[in-house]
Amino acid sequence: MDYQLIRSQRKTLSLQINQNAELIVRAPNRLSVKKIEQFIDEKSDWIDKKSSSMHANKPRKPSYTEGKKFLYLGNEYPLNIDTANAKGLRFDGQTFSLSTGGKQEFLAYYKAAFKKIALPRLEYYAKKHHLNYNQVRLKTQKTLWGSCSSANNINLNYLLIMAPMSVVDYVIVHELCHTIHKNHSKDFWHLVGQILPNYKASKSWLKEHGHKLQNL
Ligand SMILES: [Zn+2]
Repeated sequence: MDYQLIRSQRKTLSLQINQNAELIVRAPNRLSVKKIEQFIDEKSDWIDKKSSSMHANKPRKPSYTEGKKFLYLGNEYPLNIDTANAKGLRFDGQTFSLSTGGKQEFLAYYKAAFKKIALPRLEYYAKKHHLNYNQVRLKTQKTLWGSCSSANNINLNYLLIMAPMSVVDYVIVHELCHTIHKNHSKDFWHLVGQILPNYKASKSWLKEHGHKLQNL
């Protein structure tokens, strides 16, 4: 069995399976390899179990194949592979059509859609409620949907365009409210609630389904 050995001044042996399902062994400086491997042998059941669960939990990259479904504004639409098609990704309201590629084409499509559909919402809420922001940047971040700096620069994750419009609105309003309240105080949530009385449903949608927006 392959493993990575890390020796140190520790007194005991320990085993760890990392995220790539590799075995990491931590051992005292002078412990013999024979003793270490004996220990690994004794723990082989645990190692097998743990490493197979790590393999199972590894995020699987989706394949960009015919019929595979992709989210857009909260609904799922199938992908049609059409190599005769023009380059890039197109959407006709019912089906995504792709000639070649995959991830980059979807990212470009979602970013353009976010600019067209979501950014006007940001301007709308800002004007209507007198919430003044400075700059807005579009990003894709692993865990963050949006942020607002002390200088009132707003970052928004454009993959949010995969979520229902009410969720997009919620994140936009959430960040706009941070231009007034730099925290998640009672006053902050009160302001969010004044603008979007049903924001709690969107907040829990993100909690429950947010991981699906990272599945590209
Ligand atoms: Zn916040």
